[in-house]
Amino acid sequence: MLDQIKGLHHVTSMAKDARENNDFFTHKLGLRRVKKTVNFDAPDVYHLYYGDEFGTPGSVMTYFPFPNAARGRPGTGEVGVTVFSVPEGTLDFWQQRLGEQGVGGIERGELFGQKRLSFTGPDGDGFALVEVRDDDRAPWTDGGVADDEAIRGFHSVSMRLQDGGATAELLRFMNYEEIDKAGSVRRFAVKGGGNGADVIDIETLPLLNNARQGAGSVHHIAFSVENREKQLEVRKALLDTGYQVTPVIDRDYFWAIYFRTPGGVLFEVATNEPGFDRDEDTKHLGEALKLPSQHEHLRPWLETNLQPIEG
Ligand code: ZN
Repeated sequence: MLDQIKGLHHVTSMAKDARENNDFFTHKLGLRRVKKTVNFDAPDVYHLYYGDEFGTPGSVMTYFPFPNAARGRPGTGEVGVTVFSVPEGTLDFWQQRLGEQGVGGIERGELFGQKRLSFTGPDGDGFALVEVRDDDRAPWTDGGVADDEAIRGFHSVSMRLQDGGATAELLRFMNYEEIDKAGSVRRFAVKGGGNGADVIDIETLPLLNNARQGAGSVHHIAFSVENREKQLEVRKALLDTGYQVTPVIDRDYFWAIYFRTPGGVLFEVATNEPGFDRDEDTKHLGEALKLPSQHEHLRPWLETNLQPIEG
């Protein structure tokens, strides 16, 4: 049993249009762009990061905008909904705000006694806001949404799986415990509490087809560990359990390991160190195009060919 994992670190998805993606997260949802870099494995594509002021683990939504990406087909073996935490009593505000901005798929609901507002991203991405009492994480408030309403960070993700059994077992191994169940949805939370982004839902849909990934699909979800030492402990434990885990990969702002889970979702375990201020001041996070040293020689080409994004 592992106790190093403290909740979600980031969620990474795919998009079609970088400018539209940037506008959605910074202007509509009021998050801060905390890094503008490229996909280290495909450097002709952006990697855009959005979160709170610092890009605190548990608040970071990231995107690869592939200009020619076809839209994904929702299904099983993927994360279907990414859920952000907002203060109690703010869903009316958000419903009006998102409605005025032309956001699609807006729908009120309730799950496990929590009020939620579902909506879709520019590529049909599944999102929800859920009202959480006493989420004391400090929000980014320079994005046009005031402190009283602003997004605090992630609340949860919901995975759609044909068979949730083996993934549920994996989550328990990763220090999650099952805390509730409603219909086809089982809810898990970090034992003893984590970083606020503590919840994972598994929705079991045995008759639904597998998803086909594309724009609007979640590519992977990352779990947070404090440092590289704890990451190596997790890696060893997963290997000992029979998971095929990548070596540790330097992502400049964190170190990452990846492994495919039984239900089909790609998991990452990412370190909280060194963070997004390692190559620019907190005051200017996300403004300049930042490149890892191995891709620095591509800068002239990238600065000419990457789609300019505002703000
Ligand atoms: Zn990642």
